[in-house]
Amino acid sequence: MSAAPSQDGWTPSSWRTKPFAQAVQYPDEAELESVLDKIKTLPPLVTPTEIDRLRDQLAAVQRNEAFLLHAGDCAESFDACTEANLRNKLGLILSVSLILIWGARLPIVRVARIAGQYAKPRSAPTEVVDIDGVKTEVPSFRGDNVNGLAPTDRTPAPQRLLAAYFHSAATLNHLRALLASGFASLGENHPSGWSLRHVRSKELRAEFTAITAALADALDFSRVIGLPSSSSPLDEVDFYTSHEGLMLGYEEALTRPSPSSKPRAHYNTSAHFLWIGDRTRQLAGAHVEYFRGIRNPVGVKVGPSMAGPELVALLDILNPDKEPGRITLITRYGAAKVETHLPPHIAAVKASAHPVAWVCDPMHGNTQTTPAGIKTRHFSTIVAELTASFRIHAEHGSRLQGTSLEFTGELTADGFSVTECLGGSMGLREDELGARYHSFCDPRLNFEQSLDLAFLVSDHLRK
Ligand code: PEP
Ligand code: MN
Repeated sequence: MSAAPSQDGWTPSSWRTKPFAQAVQYPDEAELESVLDKIKTLPPLVTPTEIDRLRDQLAAVQRNEAFLLHAGDCAESFDACTEANLRNKLGLILSVSLILIWGARLPIVRVARIAGQYAKPRSAPTEVVDIDGVKTEVPSFRGDNVNGLAPTDRTPAPQRLLAAYFHSAATLNHLRALLASGFASLGENHPSGWSLRHVRSKELRAEFTAITAALADALDFSRVIGLPSSSSPLDEVDFYTSHEGLMLGYEEALTRPSPSSKPRAHYNTSAHFLWIGDRTRQLAGAHVEYFRGIRNPVGVKVGPSMAGPELVALLDILNPDKEPGRITLITRYGAAKVETHLPPHIAAVKASAHPVAWVCDPMHGNTQTTPAGIKTRHFSTIVAELTASFRIHAEHGSRLQGTSLEFTGELTADGFSVTECLGGSMGLREDELGARYHSFCDPRLNFEQSLDLAFLVSDHLRK
């Protein structure tokens, strides 16, 4: 393991002296601190060994030896923490990564927005909702770990942070158990739980089945000739968790010193990977202060409002030792802005010699609202930003090394996918959005749309 970064003046709580964007006002600060004290005594959710392994794998992504798939819900909810949902979510991530492995002929590093992705930054502190037919201004919903989605339940409650810890633990436990039980196996024991039973498009199903069959064949062949690496590309899968590091009290409570490293390094043990959102990346702010001291690999959302020199200043703070694998830049400009903003960012980072992984989030710059007031995204706009990013990187002597998506494998009880984004091979129309719109926050690609996108990225990677 390489040395811990220089940490002058940093402690797990040094962020408390800095301006805090997206702060939550709790009615009872003493209750908050007592909940955080309790969380400090609870066991870590992930370990430094796992975190270090992910950092090494992200260094491989930076060397173009692997491709990063970062994906999951915009916001998880406590109620969605069910066996069926977790199976379907894991199944989708594994399916998409298989398609990418097939195209890229590279390992895929899977980092899910799961087991802790509860808090949401908001553009406005309040919103107008309908309560019994009366338009009422209430505090915005800030995620299940802060307040309730019900308009009458918007007062921040510290106990929700504890509930978030236990829902994260339950989620992670079930994911680990599924993986340890062969859920990802492509061999004879392949459980049908994450196959395409519910995908109605014959073409999509056939394309996917062809890939899994070809992969299984290749595995069989290597088994027959006795190659040692005869396990499936998904056996013993490395599967990592992530969330936006927004609620710093919670993050601090799960920040633990590594017993083995000298000088002492601190790990955020609430997730393997954390990212700084586009609204909380102020150079002198609390979030950047917190993030600079943890050993975890960190993501930085980069939107159109980021100036090139600001990006480099941020990299200097977060990764002064220019350590490989530490920083992932997640660009999210919007299809209409990527041409203008990506090239100068590539140039600025190149000139700074900072090692980064370049990842395109084609979701957050492409949100639109329909005339009926429904927040959505169009598949073709998502594809447009993603393909433009592949091209622009190539034109500037760089390479797109991953993608960050909001998708879900969640199904209704009768086996239907959600209807939150428009288009895709299923041609989802505006008048169909209301049918199964389940997101608490941003619209997610559904199972079929995610596979559509995976095939498209896969094609790009094959070139
Ligand atoms: C998100 O990833 O859900 C999000 C809020 O992104 P951003 O900070 O890029 O807007
Ligand atoms: Mn989102």
